[in-house]
Amino acid sequence: MLEVTDLHKRFGSLEVLKGVSLSTANSNVISMIGASGSGKSTFLRCINLLEIPNAGEVRVDGELIRMVPGRDGGLKPADVKQVDRIRSRLAMVFQSFNLWTHMTVLENVIEAPVHVLGVPKREATDQAMALLDKVGIADKRDQYPAHLSGGQQQRCAIARALAMEPRVMLFDEPTSALDPELVGEVLRVMRQLAEEGRTMIIVTHEMRFAREVSDEVVFLHQGRIEEQGPPAQVFGNPDSERCRQFLATTE
Ligand code: ADP
Ligand code: MG
Repeated sequence: MLEVTDLHKRFGSLEVLKGVSLSTANSNVISMIGASGSGKSTFLRCINLLEIPNAGEVRVDGELIRMVPGRDGGLKPADVKQVDRIRSRLAMVFQSFNLWTHMTVLENVIEAPVHVLGVPKREATDQAMALLDKVGIADKRDQYPAHLSGGQQQRCAIARALAMEPRVMLFDEPTSALDPELVGEVLRVMRQLAEEGRTMIIVTHEMRFAREVSDEVVFLHQGRIEEQGPPAQVFGNPDSERCRQFLATTE
């Protein structure tokens, strides 16, 4: 569903991604771990073109995102319509929730289905209520985000992402901004999605969670994949000394 090949990204003279390849062909749930600054967020942002990579290929459902040389010597998307189409198949959940503060929970969830996909409002509302029920906040439908706890806001953000029926979900440290007692309720929802067989790439510091739900774990170090494999290998017996050291700091 998602295939990334030899992705490179530079910010000025800073080379943040130095050739990262990843595929969900054999792993539904991939967790990405690594120290702060190793390029995890940049990697996710390049996949859905919030950042434009300098080199490399991204394929979604086999469709290559077509790039042409840009003015800065890097690449730019060849076709804006294609970017919109690809983006609608990927859903990103951010550390900071990013809900629309002037909309209620329900309005947040139906906004894109109605205005981007053209789903009739009635149908979108029914679907949204089912999703809010799934993430356990159906009773909050008419509340504004400011009146929700962080955990409820993040669950709303997940429902909003699901409403677009994405092929792949990208999570960027979805629990890092939460008070410790609220982390579990968000991880529970994510675990349920994993069990349903959804394709997900999860950047996380929750090592126990990553170990339990992932099919594959990737350790990123200074813009390169330094260790990659099933959780038992990466967490239990990594080849990379740097990976061992990193894991030791997270215990
Ligand atoms: P991580 O998510 O693993 O903590 P990031 O991908 O956020 O790492 O950042 C990797 C490196 O790229 C960091 O050194 C960061 O400062 C730099 N960086 C990220 N985004 C930008 C940007 N828009 N402009 C310049 N440097 C950036
Ligand atoms: Mg990050």
